Amino acid sequence: MKIKLTTYEPPANLPACCICDFHTVEHYDESGKMTGKSYCGISVEGANTYPIKAVYIDDDAKRFLWRQAYDRLDNTARKAVLSVFPDILEKDAAKLKTVNDIVRIARLNIRKHFGEPCARCGGSGSYARSVAFTIVDDGICHKCGGSGKQLPRLTDKKVAEIAKFFTERRQSK
Ligand SMILES: [Zn+2]
Repeated sequence: MKIKLTTYEPPANLPACCICDFHTVEHYDESGKMTGKSYCGISVEGANTYPIKAVYIDDDAKRFLWRQAYDRLDNTARKAVLSVFPDILEKDAAKLKTVNDIVRIARLNIRKHFGEPCARCGGSGSYARSVAFTIVDDGICHKCGGSGKQLPRLTDKKVAEIAKFFTERRQSK
């Protein structure tokens, strides 16, 4: 065992929004010695007194944490993930990259294939070329990071279009 995640039965008066945070994570080394323990949404005292709800070990703990990170994504990030990886939630989360990595990869892919000209630099990727005079030293557009492209608005229609593109691309490989 390397990771042990324990969730606790919250007190009845706790707001529902806090409950997903209600757990501890213990890390163990090869010899079974605990190397660290973190408290998420719960105090040391709470962890000692509240009843244990469930215990997740290793891959199950990873799945729990992955899903929690996914559920915390804002709407735009979640749409970006689901448009590039429509079947992501059917995968085994214990074997997936971190949620943050997946969001980054999804955004890169959308920008590459469905990117629209950056509204700030007009698609040039540089202030120096798009603005008559500027005090910005490097000239690189900070909105698009110099790529000249920005993410399109992820409407339901757009999400479906992107999902179709990436699904077909995967199937043709
Ligand atoms: Zn730009």
